[in-house]
Amino acid sequence: MKTTASPKAPLPVPSDDHLTKRSRRARTEPMSVLPLGDGLYEVESASDHTYLVDLEGGRCTCPDHVFRKARCKHIRRVAIEITEGRTPPPGEVAVDCHDCGETLFVDEDESEPFYCGTHEIYPGDTVVDRETGDRLTVVDVSERRADAVEIGATDTTVADYETNADYDADVPVVGAVYPHARVARRGVVPSSLQVYVFPRTRLERETRVRRD
Ligand SMILES: [Zn+2]
Ligand SMILES: [Zn+2]
Repeated sequence: MKTTASPKAPLPVPSDDHLTKRSRRARTEPMSVLPLGDGLYEVESASDHTYLVDLEGGRCTCPDHVFRKARCKHIRRVAIEITEGRTPPPGEVAVDCHDCGETLFVDEDESEPFYCGTHEIYPGDTVVDRETGDRLTVVDVSERRADAVEIGATDTTVADYETNADYDADVPVVGAVYPHARVARRGVVPSSLQVYVFPRTRLERETRVRRD
């Protein structure tokens, strides 16, 4: 899984704050923070030295901490970046939304694909099939993978189905119906709705506003 370092730049200093020298430096010096997992962070300092911070243990490999036992500017910087949402907290990693690339923090044991709040889908959402451009309504978002779910009467899996060749086999499947279900809106409930199963990445949440 790819992890990203925060941009190496100074952070804004709250104006009315009586910061100690170390806290001020923790903000004003350009440092970048790279989460390594297991609560460890690599901090690259203004002088291009890299130090390892164990946040929960309150330890750093810099001389200020090693020799003076100080809560050094690197430990403080990691804590500040977590508080401000620039760096993921211990146990989480920074990933990109599959559809828009927005950075989000997820549990380190979660698997791809990842979606931001705008592109996550839930039952009832309208999605667009990337293969056909058709609009569908989501009825189920499963944990089961496309290579583990068989399509109804056939003996192929969703992943092996020919029109799904361009989509990853290890993504969850989504059940969706075509909007002839719209008849339900007029008070007629169809006796059976055919649910079609897609690899998650084949569907994209419809985010534009429709004018009916
Ligand atoms: Zn340090
Ligand atoms: Zn997104």
